[in-house]
Amino acid sequence: MLLYEDIIKEDNLDLRKQSVEVKLPLSNEDKQTLLDMNEYLENGYQEELVKKYHLRPGVGIAAPQIDILKKMFVILAYDEKNILHHYGVINPKILSYSEELTYLESGEGCLSVDRKVDGLVHRPKRIKVTFDSYDFTTGEINKVTIRLKNYIAVVFQHEYDHLFGHLFIDRIRKDQPFYVPSNSTPIQFTSDEE
Ligand code: ZN
Repeated sequence: MLLYEDIIKEDNLDLRKQSVEVKLPLSNEDKQTLLDMNEYLENGYQEELVKKYHLRPGVGIAAPQIDILKKMFVILAYDEKNILHHYGVINPKILSYSEELTYLESGEGCLSVDRKVDGLVHRPKRIKVTFDSYDFTTGEINKVTIRLKNYIAVVFQHEYDHLFGHLFIDRIRKDQPFYVPSNSTPIQFTSDEE
């Protein structure tokens, strides 16, 4: 199983490289990469395992982060309405972006950036994406085209960036880290205390 030490950090230049397309049908090796990444995210939701193995929980992880330069990532995240999104993403393409932007008020984080970074990342609030979707229950792969918005759109774009060697820290304005453009609004998470 993957541990936090297996995730390469920002000083590793491989994180800055471009990933290549994954060949389909999926090789056993590529399938294992997806399963390993998925297991890491799932373990991050298990408090006992997090303590025992000193894991850092995450909502997404991309293959380049475990030094495999292929266009694959996994998302396991609850959106702002507490709905679970679980995707095994292969060879994604973002087909369109909204002009309207959104951001996380607390800023973004990354398993490959092991420090607190101050600043905001503004990204398109809605995207339309297409990818080969790996179903972790059946092992089937289906081509899907879906629209994502708000938090999950942010997570998707963050992981997508990894496939092109970009990190969220690149997207923070150096001169004004907390600048908010007029077309950007924060993601509103629903409160648990209702
Ligand atoms: Zn990241």
